[in-house]
Amino acid sequence: MDGVILTTDIMDTTAFSQLDIAPTIAAILGLEMPQSDGKAIEAVADWGCNKAALIILDSLGYDLLLHLMKDMPNMNQLSRDGLLLQARSVSNRTTPAIASILSGLLPEHHQILDKAGAKESSILSLPEIAASAGEACAVIMEQNGADVYQGLVESVHGISDSLPPEQFDEEACRLTCQALLNRPNLLVSYFIGIDKNAHLGSGLDGIRKAALLIDRCIGRIMALADEKTLLVICGDHPIHAGALKRDRKPYCVAMILARGRASG
Ligand SMILES: [Zn+2]
Repeated sequence: MDGVILTTDIMDTTAFSQLDIAPTIAAILGLEMPQSDGKAIEAVADWGCNKAALIILDSLGYDLLLHLMKDMPNMNQLSRDGLLLQARSVSNRTTPAIASILSGLLPEHHQILDKAGAKESSILSLPEIAASAGEACAVIMEQNGADVYQGLVESVHGISDSLPPEQFDEEACRLTCQALLNRPNLLVSYFIGIDKNAHLGSGLDGIRKAALLIDRCIGRIMALADEKTLLVICGDHPIHAGALKRDRKPYCVAMILARGRASG
């Protein structure tokens, strides 16, 4: 890889997990997580951040990101300014993986295995913990995921997952940018295009196109997020369908941590 500093070259690649995201963001926001299977990533502690924007990219496996990185100027830039980590994936399914990202708990501990389980669960996730501590939160997700947060956090936007994937991601980008203008303490946003293309049977070209659209969105998001905002971009699992399905260990996702670039 030309021009990309891979933090994993100098760090133990098994040291990080998706479970570390919630405790890392909680530490930045000054919140206590009641329980966690992960640990806060210490490297970001002295970056001076007091807000966080978590961008979940469905099916952003670590190898896939490395493969596409040369075409993605914005994620490349963030990786060079911050950290690009190879993070252990805790589930190959979306709902339990996202529940682990947002709770810091292993699937066997949060027991959120499907969309119905997400609605019924009493496990507290990061947006709920932040909102109950009085932090301004925005959640932008597909409709079912967003419904879980209705009435619990200040700003909730659901997007229909029956939209074509590029339209879904354009809408997620628009809503994320709009939410960032209000300078939330915590923002959680979700992009679907890579995963939908994998399920639709698209080859690498289709998946690359979806990833490039997302990279343009990341460019807009990083320009709007200020320097006190920790950006965390991560996959929920490696590609789990179609011709590019990851079928052997290690199952790892990409995780980028960096600061926003907007001044003040
Ligand atoms: Zn997924």
